[in-house]
Amino acid sequence: MFTTTLLDWFALNGRDLPWRHTHDPYAIWLSEIILQQTRIQQGMDYWLRFMQRWPQVEDLAAATEDEVLHMWQGLGYYSRARNLHTAAQQIVANGKFPDTVDGIKKLKGVGDYTAAAIGSIAFGLPAAVVDGNVYRVLARHYGIDTPINTTQGKKLFTELAQSLLPSDQPAEFNQAMMDFGAIQCTPVSPKCDTCPLQETCEALRTGRISELPVKERKLKIQTVRLTYIYIRCNGKTAIRKRPAGGIWQGLWEPFAPPSPMSEGKANHPNNTHVPSGDFKGAVLLRKDVKHVLTHRILLADFYLLEVQEPPTLPDEYIWVDESDLDRYAFPRLIQILFESL
Ligand code: SF4
Repeated sequence: MFTTTLLDWFALNGRDLPWRHTHDPYAIWLSEIILQQTRIQQGMDYWLRFMQRWPQVEDLAAATEDEVLHMWQGLGYYSRARNLHTAAQQIVANGKFPDTVDGIKKLKGVGDYTAAAIGSIAFGLPAAVVDGNVYRVLARHYGIDTPINTTQGKKLFTELAQSLLPSDQPAEFNQAMMDFGAIQCTPVSPKCDTCPLQETCEALRTGRISELPVKERKLKIQTVRLTYIYIRCNGKTAIRKRPAGGIWQGLWEPFAPPSPMSEGKANHPNNTHVPSGDFKGAVLLRKDVKHVLTHRILLADFYLLEVQEPPTLPDEYIWVDESDLDRYAFPRLIQILFESL
């Protein structure tokens, strides 16, 4: 149902692009490389110019890199032009354009998507393309919320696209998916009113169009260094309650000297934060004790300072009997540090 409807839609609405009138793998490969990061209208001008100047792969291979880069000027991502030139020389050295997906993938600058596109369009190979358009159309139509940027998601969508691809019309199917995603099932405001898949579309039925496809947010894990000094003074020690808004809100902790010895981003995780001033006599008990939170890795150094006179501390610290410490709630990391006392 999905495949037939899509192919019928493509027959009526497919875009008429110059490289769709040929089976020449060189011309198709050139179009795919140019379109990797370029809009169709701009890419078309460049494709026509390239084809006019270098009609065959041998012509492109014989050009100098400077000439290719000059022709590429304005398209950006110049590594594409360099890869194009190198791949042309690979093809010439190879004697012919590779005609298997694995062979095409060996060309410089060609990944899974481009290899499937060239393979299906130029050689009729049954390889489904999977790109942003395909993820979007399939996620919406089948109501799939597996994140597309995970290994599991990539596998699932690739297998689904592959299972939908008719082996006798791989080129049409792949081009139909690309066009359908670009014209009908667009990222914003898809044209559901006129969509031939509206009756079977799960996202439309359940009102989840704007939620699909799902992309997992990859949060950067930050490393944070902490330094604690357990001050022992006549059977008492100084602790404070963690302020609101940060980690461990409302839990207690021993004295954490102010920056740069306490919480700081660890650009250089091996920095040593040696206590100075009033805390100079502190003895290092544990170094780089690692504690992993959801989006942070804490690295803590733990010192013991034994003094007769209490040093002056910020107001938020209170002095408590060491024997009463178990009345206070400490984060797990601090309990680990206490165990080294
Ligand atoms: Fe996309 Fe809307 Fe069609 Fe569903 S009904 S496939 S969301 S255009």
